[in-house]
This record gives sequence, C-alpha cells and structure tokens, in this order.
Amino acid sequence: MTTTLKQALKAHFGFDSFRSKLQEDIVKAVVRGDRDVFVCMPTGAGKSLCYQLPAMLAEGITLVISPLIALIQDQVDRLKDLNIPACSINSKLPAGERRLILADLESSSPKLKLLYITPEMVASPSFQPCLTGLCSRGLLSYLAVDEAHCVSQWGHDFRPDYLKLGDLRARLPGVPCLALTATAPKNVQDDILKSLRLQLPLSFASPVFRSNLHYDVIFRELLPNPYVHLHAFITKGCGIVYCRTREGCETVAYQLTKLGVLAKAYHAGLKAGDRIEVQNDWMQGKVLVIVATISFGMGVDKPNVRFVAHWNVAKSLASYYQESGRAGRDGLPSSCRTYYSAKDKEQISFLIRQEVTRKQVSTSTGDLKCMRFYKSQLLCRHATISKFFGDKTPNCAGACDYCSNPKVVRAQIARAAALSTRTQAAQSTEPKGPFGFRPDLYEGGRKGYGFERYDEEGGSNSDEETRQRKKEFSDLFKKQMNMRKVNVDNDFLAHANIILEASSQRIPRLTVKAREH
Ligand code: ADP
Repeated sequence: MTTTLKQALKAHFGFDSFRSKLQEDIVKAVVRGDRDVFVCMPTGAGKSLCYQLPAMLAEGITLVISPLIALIQDQVDRLKDLNIPACSINSKLPAGERRLILADLESSSPKLKLLYITPEMVASPSFQPCLTGLCSRGLLSYLAVDEAHCVSQWGHDFRPDYLKLGDLRARLPGVPCLALTATAPKNVQDDILKSLRLQLPLSFASPVFRSNLHYDVIFRELLPNPYVHLHAFITKGCGIVYCRTREGCETVAYQLTKLGVLAKAYHAGLKAGDRIEVQNDWMQGKVLVIVATISFGMGVDKPNVRFVAHWNVAKSLASYYQESGRAGRDGLPSSCRTYYSAKDKEQISFLIRQEVTRKQVSTSTGDLKCMRFYKSQLLCRHATISKFFGDKTPNCAGACDYCSNPKVVRAQIARAAALSTRTQAAQSTEPKGPFGFRPDLYEGGRKGYGFERYDEEGGSNSDEETRQRKKEFSDLFKKQMNMRKVNVDNDFLAHANIILEASSQRIPRLTVKAREH
C-alpha cells in the first residue's frame, strides 16, 4: 500500500514523501475506508492532503465541507493548478457553471474528484437530490469536514450551520467521514464526535507542543513606549500583529510605519479589494507586517512567519494557540508575544460575558481563568497550553519567558501589581458611578469595540423596556455623579449591565454580544 500511496503522492501532488508519519498513517486509515477518522493537527501540518490523496485514489467524489468561500476558492485554485478535477458550488457561482457541475455530478461517471461546499449550501434543499443521488449510486467516496471545530459551541469559530452536518451524515449512509481541525480541546473534540455522528472514529492528534515557538508576555503598561518595544520585536522578520479592534489595527500600523517598518492594517472595515491587496502584499513579502483583527488568518498558508504579536490578549487559550500558531510553520525558530494590558483584561472579560448564554457559563469561566496565562503565570507557557488541550507536559527547554528567565517574569508581575495598586489609589479619589463604573472613562462601541445589542431571552425585550432601562441608568448616574446629562445609548447600557452582572447585583435580561470584526 505504501508504495502505491507514495507513487500517487508524487504523481498527483509532486511530493516525494509524506510530511510526517502521522500524515501517512491518516491517509492509510482514510484509504482503508472502514472507519470514520478524526484529525487534530496544527495549521500547516498538511491536513488537506489527508483527504485529497484518498480522493484521487477513490472511484467517486469526495465532498469537502469548509466554512469560508475564500478558503474554498484558495484550495480549489491550488488543486486546479495541479490538474486535479476540483470545484466548488457556492452562492457566488454563475448559474451556467453551476449547471455544468450539476450535470457532471448527475452523469454515470463524473469527472470531478473533489467538490468543495459551505455548510449552508450543503443544507440547501436544491442540492439534496444531487447528493442523495450520488450516494445511492455509490459515487460518494468520502465526506471531509474541514475546520470541524466550527461544529462546537465551545469552540472559537462556532457556525450554527455546521450543526446540520449530523443530519447530512444520516442521509449519506455508508460514506466514511473525516473530521479535521487544528485546535480542539477535549470538550470541542467531544462535540465534534457527537455532532458529526462519527462511528468509532480512529483519532489522530499531533502533540500541541511546538518547540520552535518561543512564547513570552510583556506588560504594556510598564513600557515607556510600547510601539518602540513592538518595533524592536518585529524587526525579526515577517509577521502578524493581532489587535482587537479596527482602530487598534490602524493605529498600530501607523505607528510602526512611522518607526520605519512597512506595516499595513487588515480588518473587516476595509473594502474587500483592499483586504485582498494587503493580504497578497504580505504573502509576497512586499509588506513585512500585517496588523490584523482575528478576521485574518484562517487558511492563510505562509510558512515563514517569524513572529505573531498580540497587541491585545486573545479571547481564549484555544484562540491564542491557533493565532500564535501561524508563526514558524516552516519549523524555524519563531516568536509569539503578547502585550498584556490590564485594560485588555476588563475588555476581554466583558466580551466573554457577552458571548455567554446560560449553557456556556463554564466555558466562559474557563476562558477567564486563562487570563492567568498572561497576567500572573509563574509556570511554563508551553505546559499551560499543552495542559489546556489535554496533552502531557512538554520539555520546553527555554522556549518561553518563564523557563528561560523566571526571575524576569516574577519581577514584571511584581512591578505590574505595584503599578496597579498605585493607579487604584489615585482613582479612588475620582468620581465614580454606581458599582465603580466611570462613564467619563467609558469607550464604547463607537470607538471600535463593536458591541451589538441582543436579547438573551429571544427578543422579548421591547423597545419600551429598553427605554425604561436607559432612563433608570441615566437617573442613577446623574444622581451619583452629580452630572446634569448622561446619554445612555445601547452600548452604554450594555456596559452598565455588565458592571451590574459583575457585581452580582442581579442577572440582567438585556445583554449584548460582540459583533464580528
Ligand atoms: P493544514 O490544512 O494542516 O493547515 P495544508 O493542507 O494547507 O495544511 O498544507 C500546508 C502546506 O503543506 C501546503 O502548502 C501543502 O501543499 C504542503 N504539504 C502537505 N503535504 C505535504 C507533503 N507530504 N510534502 C510537502 N508538502 C506538503
């Protein structure tokens, strides 16, 4: 089998060998086709080949579910460059092309080998007869679910349409399923297995630990000039700086450019064409640093990213592992740094709480606990990440700030604690609103956090109720702060609710969720 696989690997993809023993074992398991398969390997490890090669060796068609049209397009283009018959059916496809693809799928011996599709499209009634037809004619070889963590509400990229894939499986009896993801802590893995109805799956997971990545945390508030500090860090080569807000991206890109590094911002606020241009420039090395919100990165395949800096802390350790893991895919030494700020902690707690439905409280608490990773950790950072994903403690060998110099980490934490005490003492003399909330310091959605109001109880909050609550808060603040006018908008109201929630006064019915950046 090995020789046949290697020949096919060379013939179709031009590779002389498998990237790893794990990749080879997965391909063999998929080709055997008698069990479902679950794969958890870091981005860039070569997961796509685990279904693309078996697809080429099978009689029929492999259906690949992928969350983003851009990701799909990228994969299909690459396969077409290799003369592999692949295509995608999506909402942007011209009607003529769609008809041609469907005609091929309905023919007795389709030419197509790989069909990429979004979960929304696969669930659409117009596509069902074609799928069931393929299945009943024995022409559906495999179902591959890429970015399978999107099926889990505990995961960081939850996509409700992924939940429909369980029903899809039920309609495709006998078709082996391959679920692939780069990040899946235990609870996410359990969800994937359950939701996709994987039958006694063979699980393959590579260790979380990547010895070529060096992790460290710098407390931003202790730096005389954080931009200069960041500038010194990024001169190591090409990389990514993640910021939470669009404004943050613009500011950091501007500051870095001022310091002499060509950096460009990338976020959902840019026109699609501009985003593509920035991404291409960065891919080709014309721009050294891309300063992006988390909307950037999924499916980006650039092996020589020498650093990933988080200007704001990531939302959870799972997100952090995935985002920082875009560094060093070529295996060469690379750096992952977080610039921690106490303000970030407040904002992230706020954002996490927004995403919490009653069911998800434990995840949120877990995510909040992860804040220790940045703030007060006196432990190996690799060990913390590995433990989070259920792996055993790795041998860090100095690949994090704590293991290479614990004294410096301790000193930094102590200095930050002293600074925080001084700041609190200074603030205690300033006017405060109810529960310590200071509207004069409040930076709401207009400045870029992008909070969106929603009703936790399914839309039962009437406008009248909202108006009343605004008035309630406005009166409260006016009285306590001796202010003549307090303008309570939805963002303000949302923030005020959170302060209430945080202080356990009561659990408000009205809350907010973060809008996608
Ligand atoms: P993932 O899906 O795990 O993020 P990809 O499937 O996009 O990773 O693969 C990352 C890169 O590795 C791609 O450029 C791919 O062509 C390359 N690759 C995959 N398998 C091999 C192999 N056996 N030999 C060499 N390169 C490979």
